Amino acid sequence: MPGTEAPSHPRIQRLSPLVASQIAAGEVVERPASIVKELVENSIDAGATRIIAELEHGGIELVRIIDDGHGIAESDLAMAVAAHATSKIRTTADLDSIATLGFRGEALASIASVSRLSIRSRTAGSDGAFVLELEGLDGTAVRPASGPIGTIVSARNLFFNTPARRKFLRTVPTELERCTDSFRAIALAHPHIGFRAEADGRTLLDVPKDQSPRERVLAILGKELGPQLFEVSADEFDDTRGVAIWGMAGHPEIARASARSQHLFINGRCIRDRTVQHAVAEAYRGLIEPGRYPTIVLHIEMHPGAVDVNVHPSKAEVRFRDSGVVHSAVTRSIRSALAKQDLTPLLNFVRPIPTPVVETLRLPLELPGSGRPGNRGPAPSPGGNSAFSDFFTRPASPPQQRFDYAAIKSSLDAGAVGSGGLTGVPVAPVMPLPEPLSRILQVHKSYLVTQDEQGVVIIDQHALHERAMFEYLLARVLDGGLETQHLLTPVPIPATARQIERLEDLAPLLARIGIQAEPGGPVSVLCRGFPTFLFDRNVDPVEFLSGLLEKAESDAFMSDLASGSEEALRDVLDMMSCKAAVKAGDRMSESELTALVRLREDVERSSNCPHGRPTSVRLTIRELEKLFHRS
Ligand code: ADP
Ligand code: MG
Repeated sequence: MPGTEAPSHPRIQRLSPLVASQIAAGEVVERPASIVKELVENSIDAGATRIIAELEHGGIELVRIIDDGHGIAESDLAMAVAAHATSKIRTTADLDSIATLGFRGEALASIASVSRLSIRSRTAGSDGAFVLELEGLDGTAVRPASGPIGTIVSARNLFFNTPARRKFLRTVPTELERCTDSFRAIALAHPHIGFRAEADGRTLLDVPKDQSPRERVLAILGKELGPQLFEVSADEFDDTRGVAIWGMAGHPEIARASARSQHLFINGRCIRDRTVQHAVAEAYRGLIEPGRYPTIVLHIEMHPGAVDVNVHPSKAEVRFRDSGVVHSAVTRSIRSALAKQDLTPLLNFVRPIPTPVVETLRLPLELPGSGRPGNRGPAPSPGGNSAFSDFFTRPASPPQQRFDYAAIKSSLDAGAVGSGGLTGVPVAPVMPLPEPLSRILQVHKSYLVTQDEQGVVIIDQHALHERAMFEYLLARVLDGGLETQHLLTPVPIPATARQIERLEDLAPLLARIGIQAEPGGPVSVLCRGFPTFLFDRNVDPVEFLSGLLEKAESDAFMSDLASGSEEALRDVLDMMSCKAAVKAGDRMSESELTALVRLREDVERSSNCPHGRPTSVRLTIRELEKLFHRS
């Protein structure tokens, strides 16, 4: 029959609003935790001072958020759930300075399309509340009800009308955990708001309003972490860029195997951002073993125009106008917070409270023109941020010891001389030794046992020496480069064609560390000059350069180098210090022991070797008292 024949091509039709909305919801509502986040953010935007979450069945059967915010007027209720309807922005220009958490006008519409939504709300000017109930976008008429000022939004039976998506939900405990994570993250960012969460009638979290940021962090992460969380703040930045940083950085000891212990915020918004994550990792470099993540709560505040939050549907990712500024501010502020602490891991059986000790000295920071950030003592609170003023209640710092760079340098330089084959242990004590260091015991030619004001310190001789060497080398390189020892007879190093080819790109790095090398034929590189530092310590040029050329085979290494990041340099200095440092099994003289232990006090990050392993552990007097049942 002509006329009723099926067309040979599919016809184009407009989707129904429900289907369109369900598709859009795919981006915003992935699981119950996304609903928690969207609804709680709405409550915060509404100026709530107290927010309660009620969850049933991991949030799958019910997410209810109750707030005491300004509410939604009766006449606005229907509009609140319409697609692309918002009270937070009006024009394109508003997108450049978003000061609210929401602005896309999508959340309620999306949630309504995939769950049974009900909103009960009352504004200050109204005698009673009004309720709107929806099922798959079909709504009842708005009807009056009783209720206090504020809003109660309930989303039931998530994905009841999209069974395919319901299948992607995980188990109830997993979904519940994600809901709690979302809620906790938001609570961390808003210490002035009270939060309570209940799951199936059980209270999971309850924090009062008007807490200080520090109180809030401890309430959420656990009070017992208090002594191991150090305040981070930065207000030394250029006003025009307006970056302020505050938060708490965890002791390397409380690093975790997952990134869940990292809480990063931009302008009160919880984010996952590679720039910031990388900057945090960089700050902890050498203090934490690879594959672990520091525990940290970090708030970055900046002009809303300097960060684009409209690049991700749930706004978990952002784009910075100048990510370099953010990166260096984050790294610097955390490094300086950590540098103020003695990070020696405690040998503890019940975790005692570490007392803040003498400021560690920052060798590279003290160098003129080193390009590293200066340290100007404890940082004051970020300007103009009165909510955080009580955050910074740091006790007065003890007087800072001066770091005698020249003395350390000469003691290190003197190290190889007369040390009977021992590699590079500084011989001459730099200053008269303080009493606590007077007796040092070398155990099994590998560990040093000594005491300090807090108790017994056990040191891994190789790890500590390696760390000291590393800081020394880094400072020297940043200060202009390492000296070269010219070799009378050039030393041939076996090399692959690829390694020889990359020699040219390696040249700037080699120059900085005092190596002169050139292609020496199809299968070798000729080494004409070797760092005096390594030469003096009897490090074999063939072994060292082979290791370096091997690194050059990695594309990641070469691209790090090309990008001018410090990473490749640090990597090579790691290798240098490891080779030059005293080994486990090396016997050391009394004066060498003393000089090495001294380094512990004088070198930044002496608590860990460059690979992040501890260089020393401490057994406190309190622990000893406990062990011997004296207390
Ligand atoms: P957005 O938050 O992006 O504006 P939503 O769909 O989340 O979009 O919310 C739509 C509008 O509903 C908001 O702009 C706001 O005016 C109103 N609204 C939502 N939740 C609340 C609440 N808890 N209290 C007051 N107003 C709310
Ligand atoms: Mg919203």
